[in-house]
Amino acid sequence: MTLHAPYDADNIFARILRGEIPAVKVWEDDHVLVFMDVFPQSEGHVLVIAKTSTARNLLEIEPEVLNRVVAATQRTARALEKALKPEGFQIMQLNGEAGGQTVFHLHFHIIPRWSDRSMKGHGHAPMAEPAVLKALAERIAAELEPAG
Ligand code: AMP
Repeated sequence: MTLHAPYDADNIFARILRGEIPAVKVWEDDHVLVFMDVFPQSEGHVLVIAKTSTARNLLEIEPEVLNRVVAATQRTARALEKALKPEGFQIMQLNGEAGGQTVFHLHFHIIPRWSDRSMKGHGHAPMAEPAVLKALAERIAAELEPAG
């Protein structure tokens, strides 16, 4: 998928937003949804998406929506750090098929890292058990600071 193509309203994140397929949610508000990556590259791999935009990538996202998504990413990373105590974390945001993007609805990945644990490759991680993801999501959500 090129960087320049129409938004596919049936992409998997659009279907999650419409409630057509399940997702393990961490938190949401009117503007953003934060949920567990079902093929986690490390324990606690989270995705942050906008609810109100059909931007497929960073080139297309409206600046005010980007601000909300980045703020949500920071809020989630703070909670994740308290809950899972990673030694570090990676923020990943891929653009275009050649950039490694596989779902064409703009999103930020938060991937917790520990120095003694390897990270699974993007697109090569096994599917996680919903119950395991739900337990992680609850631990992260429990550490959220009040919305600013
Ligand atoms: P990207 O390749 O940057 O577009 O990332 C898409 C991410 O979505 C990958 O890390 C996938 O593991 C993840 N993913 C794909 N399908 C689902 C799903 N149904 N629920 C949660 N995460 C998903």
